[in-house]
Amino acid sequence: MPDRDAPNAGLLIDGARVPSASGATVPVRNPATGAVLAYVAQAGVEDAHSAVEAAQRSYAAGSWRRATVAERARVLLRLADLIRANAEELARLESSNVGKPIGESRGEIAMGADCFQFYAGQIPSFGGHTVPVSAPGTGLTFRESVGVCVLIVPWNFPFAITTWKVSPALAMGNSVVVKPASATPLSALRLGELALEAGLPPGVLNILPGPGGAVGTALVTHPAVRKISFTGSTEVGAGVMRLAADDIKRVSLELGGKSANIVFADADLAKAGAAIFSVFGNAGQDCCSRSRVLVERLVYNEFVERYVERTRALRIGDPLDDATEIGSLISPEHRAKVDAYVRKGVEQGAKLCIGGAIKRGGMYDAGSFYEPAVFADVTPDMVIAQEEIFGPVVSIIPFDSEEEAIKLANGSIYGLSGSLWTRDIGRALRVVRAVETGVISVNTGWSVHMEMPFGGVKRSGVGRELGPSALEHYSEQKSVFISDE
Ligand code: NAP
Repeated sequence: MPDRDAPNAGLLIDGARVPSASGATVPVRNPATGAVLAYVAQAGVEDAHSAVEAAQRSYAAGSWRRATVAERARVLLRLADLIRANAEELARLESSNVGKPIGESRGEIAMGADCFQFYAGQIPSFGGHTVPVSAPGTGLTFRESVGVCVLIVPWNFPFAITTWKVSPALAMGNSVVVKPASATPLSALRLGELALEAGLPPGVLNILPGPGGAVGTALVTHPAVRKISFTGSTEVGAGVMRLAADDIKRVSLELGGKSANIVFADADLAKAGAAIFSVFGNAGQDCCSRSRVLVERLVYNEFVERYVERTRALRIGDPLDDATEIGSLISPEHRAKVDAYVRKGVEQGAKLCIGGAIKRGGMYDAGSFYEPAVFADVTPDMVIAQEEIFGPVVSIIPFDSEEEAIKLANGSIYGLSGSLWTRDIGRALRVVRAVETGVISVNTGWSVHMEMPFGGVKRSGVGRELGPSALEHYSEQKSVFISDE
């Protein structure tokens, strides 16, 4: 439905909010209400080229690239403060645009601010080395910025993932173009404004909402772009990697997942059974979602009962209400896809214990609400146990031994995240080493920490975000040898 009062929102190119070259705009909606939040300028190929050229000019001018570490850190810290000063506005914007509970958005905005602070603190100690070499002279390495970086972001954690990429990229002195998801560009555009207010020179951070197919491709293939960091689906990520290959661009990919949550019989079952947000957080639209719960058969029935009871108590509702635990899915189309997976699970013989239906009535009719689904008696070959559903659907699968649990956990094309629950420290160490994944946690369903590397193996991606090592992905090493002779 059109909303005449919704504001227009321009692209951010070269320090200014501008219309797209074609003048096209698209309505960006609140998925929980269907209301138009803003008419956002829709970039095309011409705008993609303008944004890269603005980034290229700012990089060549050098005021950011050559700024001292202390100067860059000061701007990043000011930006962190500005995010905190505007945190509630940003959290409401994010919840309205994504449909996620306000409590989750507040946490993500806070983490975004902390990321800028973290990398401001990292850069003074991130440098090269002197290297002993077997020739008369001195070996040195430098860490240098890469150049123009294109950062492509999905719709499920728009602000958080933008900050994960932008903060190390800027910390190293690069100039960047962010391509937010078409459905959720608003918080990234606001971040761009705050960055200018913090003192970032114009053109260093450009924000370009537009369709992934045309704009994403134009950005990825632009010859001036040196590094691409992509978060999104495995299918699109593979295409990005292929396109980047021609110019040998540096690529890091954070892709899909189908992570396992392994519960051994000796675990604290009350804690493990209550950790349902490792699947239902963000209404299951989470790459880290532990959507396969593997449970030792000895405690399988008890665990399923606990899980179902906790799911029954979930509060589904208005994302802006503090009490809400499950908001809206991103769109009716996405909800239909999730629902089709649930129907497939039933058809293949899994037992639907609770949920798995479109939430209807009253306010729910305006949004894309879905009742979280718990499936028991799932076998590993079923579609719901193999494919990334990206919605509030969990498959609980029994196992009989540690070896079988590891085999099941590794029986996926993905390898992003995961958890295991046990009181046996020896087993915990064996299993964390054996599971093919980039990230895993013990006795908690949470594993994203700003201070630690985050990313996947197998078809979940290449490269790591967060942690000190993210700076490596946004810098080049230069080796210098100075002869004594
Ligand atoms: P997506 O469809 O792959 O889109 C991701 C981003 O890529 C969007 O900005 C999209 O733009 C853009 N894009 C689309 N086609 C493109 C192309 N040909 N070239 C360049 N860019 C293109 O993924 P999504 O549906 O937004 O997000 C869900 C997926 O992301 C899930 O698979 C999830 O697991 C994954 N994810 C992974 C992580 C992680 O850290 N591993 C984190 C979050 C999400 P448009 O919006 O305009 O299409």
